[in-house]
Amino acid sequence: MSDHHTDQHGGQFETLAIHAGQPADAATGAVVTPIYQVSTYKQDGVGGLRGGYEYSRSANPTRTALEANLAALEGGRRGLAFASGLAAEDCLLRTVLAPGDHVVIPNDAYGGTFRLFSRVVERWGVSWSVADTSDIQAVRAALRPETKVIWVETPSNPLLGVSDIAALAGVARQAGVRLVVDNTFASPYLQQPLALGADVVVHSTTKYMGGHSDVVGGALVTSDATLGDELAYHQNAMGAVAGPFDAWLVMRGIKTLAVRMDRHSANAARVVELLTAHPKVTHVLYPGLPEHPGHEIAAKQMRAFGGMVSFRVAGGEEAAVEVCNRAGLFTLGESLGGVESLIEHPGRMTHASAAGSALEVPADLVRLSVGIESADDLLADLTQALG
Ligand SMILES: *Cc1c(COP(=O)(O)O)cnc(C)c1O
Repeated sequence: MSDHHTDQHGGQFETLAIHAGQPADAATGAVVTPIYQVSTYKQDGVGGLRGGYEYSRSANPTRTALEANLAALEGGRRGLAFASGLAAEDCLLRTVLAPGDHVVIPNDAYGGTFRLFSRVVERWGVSWSVADTSDIQAVRAALRPETKVIWVETPSNPLLGVSDIAALAGVARQAGVRLVVDNTFASPYLQQPLALGADVVVHSTTKYMGGHSDVVGGALVTSDATLGDELAYHQNAMGAVAGPFDAWLVMRGIKTLAVRMDRHSANAARVVELLTAHPKVTHVLYPGLPEHPGHEIAAKQMRAFGGMVSFRVAGGEEAAVEVCNRAGLFTLGESLGGVESLIEHPGRMTHASAAGSALEVPADLVRLSVGIESADDLLADLTQALG
């Protein structure tokens, strides 16, 4: 199988997104990789595998195509596709950690990631410390002799904090620990952590990669071939793989990732312009703003600033909830990264599981996933929602 994962492709990102891992189907010439909705494969004599496939938990041709594509887009050697982002994270953590190990996690992260560390992984004897990963000294200070992983999300969810991936990779290398980057908010079109020195990239492909709010999936990509083999072993041993149809939906989404991210970023810039001038908005959190503390680093490590925007509302929690409830074109809902715009209140919705912890989010915070509708229509809706 490894040939499928290590195919070398020339070409720029947009070309890879459409073609990497997806030659015309060998049996029919179909230009789109078919959905191989199948669990098992005929063997030519005992142990004689025709295409290298024997059982679809271990490998499935549709998933293989996606996995090769993911590896190409992140510039890695091995991509693996999972049933969800958290399934990918779980596989990674159970592959690289053992009881007694320690991890450094960011003070701003997806709530489910924090829950996985604090409620699940901790019970297996893995300890964790929270650090502001935008502060290199703070990360260094959080390291212990038993630290195995530095985990970072950049831009982060929901505060849009920016961490310097290359600098953190330096810290990790010096300490002999692995740097894991959750690249969900940026997508590989906007940011490529492996090229900046990260060891593993994590994705919730549910978000920008899928891009249409119609699938839940996750991914891991690494350029370390040995680690890639270990992760693949655990992926099969634990079994939380992406099904063929889900893998196909993510692949279909990825084909338009570049054009979508360009439009998400352009629309977000218009939204930010409106919010920064609005009297009812006290803070706008967006790495594209020159006054954002991580702006220069974001400009250095990202192609554009993405479609996620958070802001704080004058009048506190009730006012923030009201804005969410009044929004119309911005659909009130969790998740992000789809073509349609979404609005949510992180404190009561996506990040409720971080309440009372170091990752608790401000109560007056509203998070937007700016979609690719007409920017004028989006601005009109926000204007009426802010009242
Ligand atoms: C959604 C999300 C996850 C978890 O992914 P699922 O597909 O929901 O399991 C992890 N990290 C980030 C940044 C996310 O937004």
